[in-house]
Amino acid sequence: MSAASASATSQSLGERRPYVGRFAPSPTGPLHAGSLVAALASWLDARAHQGRWLVRIEDVDGPRCPAGADQFILRQLAAVHLLPDEPPLWQSRRSALYQAALERLAALGWAYPCACSRKDIAQALALRGGPRERHGELVYPGTCRHGLRGRPARAWRLRSTAGRDDDAPLGIGWTDRRLGPQWQDLTREVGDFVLKRADGLWAYQLAVVVDDGEQGITDVVRGEDLADNTPRQMRLQQLLGLPQPRYLHTPLVLGANGEKLSKQNGAQALVLDDPLAALRRAGAALGLPELPAATLADWLAAATQAWGLRWRAARVA
Ligand code: GLU
Repeated sequence: MSAASASATSQSLGERRPYVGRFAPSPTGPLHAGSLVAALASWLDARAHQGRWLVRIEDVDGPRCPAGADQFILRQLAAVHLLPDEPPLWQSRRSALYQAALERLAALGWAYPCACSRKDIAQALALRGGPRERHGELVYPGTCRHGLRGRPARAWRLRSTAGRDDDAPLGIGWTDRRLGPQWQDLTREVGDFVLKRADGLWAYQLAVVVDDGEQGITDVVRGEDLADNTPRQMRLQQLLGLPQPRYLHTPLVLGANGEKLSKQNGAQALVLDDPLAALRRAGAALGLPELPAATLADWLAAATQAWGLRWRAARVA
């Protein structure tokens, strides 16, 4: 167990903000069956709570986003009647907000510039007895925590320790509405993570937290592959003084090879010649029963009711 720990629970029951949910696709390609599941779950959860549902295009990693993929995704969502309650936001237009958050974290002493290349990090880790990796990312050994020693800054990182001036590890606990109690030793398992990349692009962790805060998101409903990011995002929320949303991570859709469906492993773009069948399949992946419905609107209404029965109890518990 960590020497210091911060047990952060989701939004306390006392202060209920009006429900605002979101679907936040990265437009690296069209939606596939797995991303429709996440979109549908966040829409159903918002509707079951009489909340608002927003769409945010997470295009901070511009070079990975082909032209037109964002509009294609919006058309795919419209084809299955998942329509946002406000015009979508594009993260690529919101750099000023991310810059302000970074400056705030730096002024507070939590964010620091880092001069290390991947090779520098691998060498520093080797000196300490071997590389520590997490999902292909090296766990940063903290080389630049105490200054750049004359080297030029490349990226910006967040200090992952419990204190600004000590190395005590920080554990973060949280309760997912579907997965139950979760725990991560942020310092040892993740390390000081990147907020702004060496290529000048904003890191997903910072952009998502700033936007969820600025858009008043109360409930994050997204695929289980992202659950592991939650403690990083909760830490940023704490340090930026933002309220913590509730989290619900949905089951992943697996491809024929048993791996998670993703654009990276060639998941097929969702074909929407039969939108009702696509929704039925997404509903089945979410564990919804077969719902008798002849139209999209009927199916979505029945699914909202079924979702409410299934998840409302879990939320209040
Ligand atoms: N943009 C992320 C993705 O498409 C999702 C972010 C989130 O829901 O927090 O994987």
